[in-house]
Amino acid sequence: MFYVSTRGNQPAVSSAEAIKMGISPDGGLFVPDAPVTVGPDVMRKMKDMTYRDRAAEILRLYLTDFTAAELEECTGGAYNTTNYDVEEIAPVKELESGTYVLELWHGPTCAFKDMALQILPRFLPRAAAKTGEKGEIVILVATSGDTGKAALEGFKDVPGTRIFVFFPDQGVSQVQRLQMITQEGGNVGVASVRGNFDDAQSGVKAIFTDPEMNRMVGEKGFRFSSANSINWGRLAPQIVYYFSAYLDLLKEGKLSGGEPVNFVVPTGNFGNILAGFYASEAGLPVNRLICAANENNVLTDFIRTGVYDRNRRFVKTISPSMDILISSNLERLLYELTGRDTASVRGWMQDLKENGVYRVGREIYSRLQSLFWSDFSDDRETMAAIRDTYESTGYVADTHTAVGLDVYKKYVEQTGDRTKTVIVSTASPFKFNASVVKALLGEEAVAGKNEFELLKVLAQVSLMEIPAGLRGLERRPVLHQRVVAGEEMPRAVLDFLGI
Ligand SMILES: *Cc1c(COP(=O)(O)O)cnc(C)c1O
Repeated sequence: MFYVSTRGNQPAVSSAEAIKMGISPDGGLFVPDAPVTVGPDVMRKMKDMTYRDRAAEILRLYLTDFTAAELEECTGGAYNTTNYDVEEIAPVKELESGTYVLELWHGPTCAFKDMALQILPRFLPRAAAKTGEKGEIVILVATSGDTGKAALEGFKDVPGTRIFVFFPDQGVSQVQRLQMITQEGGNVGVASVRGNFDDAQSGVKAIFTDPEMNRMVGEKGFRFSSANSINWGRLAPQIVYYFSAYLDLLKEGKLSGGEPVNFVVPTGNFGNILAGFYASEAGLPVNRLICAANENNVLTDFIRTGVYDRNRRFVKTISPSMDILISSNLERLLYELTGRDTASVRGWMQDLKENGVYRVGREIYSRLQSLFWSDFSDDRETMAAIRDTYESTGYVADTHTAVGLDVYKKYVEQTGDRTKTVIVSTASPFKFNASVVKALLGEEAVAGKNEFELLKVLAQVSLMEIPAGLRGLERRPVLHQRVVAGEEMPRAVLDFLGI
């Protein structure tokens, strides 16, 4: 299996090359050049496997130039009970009959980004070695909050790599900020950027594509790579948990073989739900992929109308990891839905860049409609969903997951579809505790308390333990203080590399 660019101007490369490069030099994203099929025999075989063995089984089909032993080292190193606080790694819980929650936040940083970012740092040095890379890999990350910390944890002290993270100074929660600025590790750097996530992301993209920057760092023996969800090495591991959730439900007798399910995915950059799409393409019985957005509902409009229009107000919401107006991974979906029509993809991406808007044709629109459905929730609805879910089931959801719960309610009301449904839960409620406590106990319960005091309040109401990664965060020393403007981002990177 080889990887080609969605824009069609890059020769095919191995999966190791694609992971090492992150983004294709022609500005496109790497995609597999052949379909993958997970047949009934593989499904049967995986049913009784642990998460890590299921992961090795699925990844083998996509990362064909990695040996079985390498993949087992990677999955074993990533998905174990040192890193995760539950043996199942990605447990599925029943919310109500026929409705399940897939919890993707039992890793070290309490958000679903760990599912990919615990394993990508294990792929990368192996990918570099395989492709004869001599330089030291420098990972640059723009984060809306959760990716940054997950990438720092994943890459800290990984030999042959360095990592620098930019986060928007106004866009992250207290917990997220402290998680990043207290990060330890000899190869890590962190700075906040004045602006929002899109500003940070544009700045990082500009560094990646600036020939002069690449030349300067190249001369010193460094090579840029990306841990953002545009890297195929992040996407592939996310395909695994869609299969794993299905297999768990099969195993518990909640589904019969071949029975279709819906997945509801709280969505921002379109990475998580795109992995669901690839799972469905590979044969997982998926009825609908329900794209749950917050008030930054650019994807909802796209799925409903076929018009992608980012020309709108950027809204800061209580689900900040979904506050995104340019969903990079959508490009991969367009490529697949057009039957790999790179000329169309190039045209739309050009329109997006120049005018902030593009429209897909009738045929693509109808393909989109046959698998996807979307709606969005505002903050008030999200808060209500946290409270209502707790009152009716006892389950405590974080704000992102609550967007999924609310959109699912709308889906059932509007379509009447009763297909069994898995709601993908993307963060621990402790990570966004201020909103969660307010939803459960009211305004008075949070008044005058910081997020660290609220962790304790939440532990009491939810009867859950404060996750290890968040305990004592406020007492850790601050190690990264730099704040930069967008145009100072390249300088910050050069300083970090001592250039
Ligand atoms: C990143 C993130 C999302 C959005 O996922 P995408 O892959 O960007 O669509 C949703 N919820 C949480 C908690 C996240 O960290």
